[in-house]
Amino acid sequence: MANSSAKAERVDAAPPARSLAEITLLTQAERFKGRPKLCSDCGICGGELRPLMAAACVFVQNRHEQIELKIHGRNRSDGDELRFGVNRAIHIARLRQINYEAQWSGIVTRLGALLLERGLVDGVIATKAAPGTRWAPLPFLARTPAEVLATAGNKPCLSPTLEVLPEVKASGLKRLAFIGMGCQVHALRCIEADLGLEQLYVIGLPCTDNTSYPDLMRFLNVASKSPATVAHHEFMQDFRVWMRHDDGHLEKMNYVDLDVSALGGERGIFPAACLSCFDYQNGLADLTIGYLGAPLPPEQRWQWMLVRNERGQELFDLIKPLLELGERSEAGDRRVGMQAYIGMLRKPRKRPIAPIRKFVAWMQRNKGPKGFEFARSVIEMKLLRNLVFVRDQYPKHEQRIIPRYVYRALAYTADVYQREFERTLEP
Ligand SMILES: Cc1cc2nc3c(=O)[nH]c(=O)nc-3n(C[C@H](O)[C@H](O)[C@H](O)COP(=O)(O)OP(=O)(O)OC[C@H]3O[C@@H](n4cnc5c(N)ncnc54)[C@H](O)[C@@H]3O)c2cc1C
Ligand code: SF4
Ligand code: SF4
Repeated sequence: MANSSAKAERVDAAPPARSLAEITLLTQAERFKGRPKLCSDCGICGGELRPLMAAACVFVQNRHEQIELKIHGRNRSDGDELRFGVNRAIHIARLRQINYEAQWSGIVTRLGALLLERGLVDGVIATKAAPGTRWAPLPFLARTPAEVLATAGNKPCLSPTLEVLPEVKASGLKRLAFIGMGCQVHALRCIEADLGLEQLYVIGLPCTDNTSYPDLMRFLNVASKSPATVAHHEFMQDFRVWMRHDDGHLEKMNYVDLDVSALGGERGIFPAACLSCFDYQNGLADLTIGYLGAPLPPEQRWQWMLVRNERGQELFDLIKPLLELGERSEAGDRRVGMQAYIGMLRKPRKRPIAPIRKFVAWMQRNKGPKGFEFARSVIEMKLLRNLVFVRDQYPKHEQRIIPRYVYRALAYTADVYQREFERTLEP
């Protein structure tokens, strides 16, 4: 253990790749200055990796389907893979010993720690909270299981996670695990061959509607009666945001009650990059671990795990003895709401008055899609919304940044889309 703590001190003493003020204080406009218009701050352009931007950036050229062929051996089949990504198995699971400090049950950090414990990797790129903050993301190279476990819980804003790669290279480390978002994984896959690694495990987190740190704070100010004491929050599958406070009490807010206009609308709070992102499910990871398709109630902390390739299977087999496996479930019909959603995308409506919101929230919770059907509905809505955003704001980018599977996934809405937008869904 002496060895572990020496490593911990060395890593903690290393200066963050980016100053705290930059991470926490800059607005989106300031932070992305000098970058392409679409940028999720994945970490490539913040330092010496910047020359690789054109070859790696998902917003310069989306190479998702090429990379799928390379790492999964095939592209997405028709059906659920169009939404969930290439997979050989999907499991509902939670840690037998739930880590209540984690975002859900703690599978991700336990797996990262296990890789180090078993000597399968020498480092794990993970994201902890910047000192003195609860939510500001600080990516770093964890060298001990304790360091990985200490990163439990989301820091729910854009994190320049790939900025740690030069440190990996400098340390001569050859066996690595990476925990991160789809845009980061795309860039990592593009440059993987140049990193000189002997082993790379990629554990993916699903991700949508991410934001910058100052905008996360704005969101909490609007969503919560006591933003400073929110210790954990999540957009739950019951159409509510759940916010747990320091004293343990739970505050829940219906999605439909969120005053998005106070945040400048979706386009005022989410970066253009996240509104132009088509990889909610982190399809280029070896193993994706999220919650979207998992059954409720959230207190039971069920998660879902999508095994994408052989390496993902290896990761799943490694953590399996620590897991309790659950049942997949689904109910409802997402297609009912899709038509209305497309109409709303074309002509956004004002927030309804309180009694109508109450009724909508009740309908969503009691009659809306559940389980896997909920996951399909959310992913399709984000694909559609983002397609509309790109066509509206960055029409010239469409061919480069929207992969073909998006049109295949949405094909069943083509008639409604054409009626509303007076153009074809296909480009
Ligand atoms: C910004 C964000 C948005 C997400 N959106 C969705 C979603 O829409 N649907 C869904 O199913 N799942 C989403 N997830 C994943 C989900 O919330 C959980 O993180 C996941 O289920 C793992 O839970 P856990 O308890 O196993 O993780 P834990 O054991 O708590 O580990 C969390 C891991 O997340 C990493 N991490 C934390 N913040 C960041 C960050 N900003 N960037 C990169 N890595 C980070 C840490 O390194 C840590 O290893 C999102 C995660 C994040 C960070
Ligand atoms: S998303 Fe990454 S690669 Fe693309 S411009 Fe931003 S930092 Fe650079
Ligand atoms: S929504 Fe997409 S672009 Fe934005 S941080 Fe998440 S994976 Fe990256």
